[in-house]
Amino acid sequence: MSIMKSRKLAVITLVYWFLLLYIVAALVWWFISLEKQNRQMSTYKLQELKLDDVLFEQKFYKIEDERKRKTGQYIGEGVTFLALILIGAVFVYRATRRQLRLSIQQQNFMMAITHELKTPIAITLLNLETLQKRKLEESQQQKLISNTMQEANRLNLLCNNILLASQLDAGAYKLTKTEFNLSEVVDESLADFRSRFPNRTIDNSVAEQVYFVGEELLLQIVVNNLLENALKYTPKDKPILVELSEVNRHICFKVSDNGAGIPDNEKEKIFEKFYRIGNESTRNAKGTGLGLYLCKRIVQDHGGEIFVKHNHPEGSIFTVLFKS
Ligand code: ADP
Repeated sequence: MSIMKSRKLAVITLVYWFLLLYIVAALVWWFISLEKQNRQMSTYKLQELKLDDVLFEQKFYKIEDERKRKTGQYIGEGVTFLALILIGAVFVYRATRRQLRLSIQQQNFMMAITHELKTPIAITLLNLETLQKRKLEESQQQKLISNTMQEANRLNLLCNNILLASQLDAGAYKLTKTEFNLSEVVDESLADFRSRFPNRTIDNSVAEQVYFVGEELLLQIVVNNLLENALKYTPKDKPILVELSEVNRHICFKVSDNGAGIPDNEKEKIFEKFYRIGNESTRNAKGTGLGLYLCKRIVQDHGGEIFVKHNHPEGSIFTVLFKS
């Protein structure tokens, strides 16, 4: 965060706490003065009473009752007012913090995205130049071409994610649902990832003919993002498992990995926009923090749910559930 921004934030926080304390202090002060006035009034009335009055006792209790009733009224009003102020204050505080976190994440996103866009372009250019200038052996040529394709695919997924996120945010996206074969979408994705990552083990158990009503392109994005993450956050020598099943009119898509896993306190946050575990300097996997945010939005727009659990002995299992 820039110095200007953090200074501005410090001033705003200070003003916020000052105003809140001032309001609470004024409220307490208001209560004390009213109560004091109340007591004075009843003392005054009591002094007015005559000891030889036959109704002395009756009048005495009446004055006392009135004093107590007023105290109760002040406490009741004061507590309600204080509660309203505190609820409002908590609400403003949380909203501001959320906004701030989003703005920091947005900045991280801009840094990440510049890097994410430039790297595949630079690699692609370099590979093409090498192919153009040198006479390479067939195997070397193939290696360079598949490497270039991998980078182009990464760029493609990234562009899809960014475009879709901005369309969803602008409310410009209308779902056009059709019935399609989800098993085929998963199989195509698996074939694509296997050709991009020939050295990785991707196990699968995909039920055939699982039909789904929704937008095919979006479901493909969900499948691709979950697979991409599983491969990205799992050591190269460990397998990942992709499953699709339909039981009792429930469609379940699962991607399990044996990677680092996700701490319990991050399990919700990872679905937030731009959220990435750790910070820019400690992370080594590339990314933008958009993938899971999009997955969640797409799944919810299709009436489903997505969540993550621990895998045994390590890693995570991402599950997407739909009613068919
Ligand atoms: P990106 O991968 O571009 O950073 P995502 O929204 O796809 O963004 O994921 C958000 C964060 O969740 C990632 O930065 C990573 O820290 C964590 N994450 C996602 N998938 C996995 C996984 N399979 N294993 C461990 N961590 C994961």
